[in-house]
Amino acid sequence: MTAAHFSQSYREARQRFLAAAGARRAAIESHAHPLKGAEGEEIATDTALVSTADAPNLLIVSSGTHGPEGFSGSACQLALLHDPLLQRATDSGIAVLLIHAVNPYGFSHLKRTNEDNIDLNRNFRDFSQPYPANPVYEEIHDLLMPTAWPPSEANEEELAAAMARLAGRRDPGVSSGQAVHPDGLFYSGTAPAWSNKIIRAILRKHGTWRRHIAWIDVHTGLGPYGHGEKIFGRHSPETLARARAWWGRDLIVSSMAESVSPRTLGHITGFAPEECPGVAITPTTLEYGTLPGPAVRRALRGEAWLAGHPDAPDALRAEIRRAVRDAFYVDADDWKGMILGQFRAYALQTINGLAAEPK
Ligand SMILES: [Zn+2]
Repeated sequence: MTAAHFSQSYREARQRFLAAAGARRAAIESHAHPLKGAEGEEIATDTALVSTADAPNLLIVSSGTHGPEGFSGSACQLALLHDPLLQRATDSGIAVLLIHAVNPYGFSHLKRTNEDNIDLNRNFRDFSQPYPANPVYEEIHDLLMPTAWPPSEANEEELAAAMARLAGRRDPGVSSGQAVHPDGLFYSGTAPAWSNKIIRAILRKHGTWRRHIAWIDVHTGLGPYGHGEKIFGRHSPETLARARAWWGRDLIVSSMAESVSPRTLGHITGFAPEECPGVAITPTTLEYGTLPGPAVRRALRGEAWLAGHPDAPDALRAEIRRAVRDAFYVDADDWKGMILGQFRAYALQTINGLAAEPK
């Protein structure tokens, strides 16, 4: 358990992940992204599978669905690759699949969205159906998207007042997702993104023939400093009962008012039953708090403003990217220790849960 598992750039995180997976004799696959990273480096979604040949159960840990949130997910994956827990999993008939950098473009370039300003956690959806209207986001879009950066004091005040007025709106809420403003926040896209296609292919390859799949998708940016909220989406009562038996009563169902996250549509783990029919699936999001909400929101607004202003001066660009990084990755040892400690407990509970499922 060491803060040293955290990297300072996507490039470093990827190199360390591949090296550790290689040392652990994992089966590695790389899905190269068509674009380059912030340092001109190749970027990719990499997977490492640690398994015996015919493990009936699968534990997936994914990182970087929201770009720089991947600093934490990647550290959790690196810690697991060095953990004897991995051996316990394989001894119990559990294959472990680590998906590194679901959104490698955002991870490297320090943006929560992908190369097309898509929020990937709103993109895994049925595109033959219209995305539901989000009148709450509509109310606030113009305020969220300032005409200049940094935004004026008047804009900040108006936005704070509007956010206070809309607080508690959850179904939908401001961040539930929207398909109307490609330049806005929480944009779902109008077709499956590159990452969507890659993740689906990975799941088809590794998941369809398993008996049971557990999936932990690691996020940051919501909730109290360093606190890991165990979030569970909308599933059958049987699946919820199983999840509570594995993870305890502090599992938070995202449709309930106490969750840090509002109802969202198009979540990354939500499509798993579609790709793996007949497999029991227990998915969860592990969401760690970083900075107070207004600081995170300001970073996201900067990111959106920058996407619409590619001619922004280099110094301003660097400042905005740095704010996004700081909003999703607290570069402090106490915070890192909290991330890894809670992740290990969660991974251990998940492995115990999967191992105890009926064969
Ligand atoms: Zn996230």
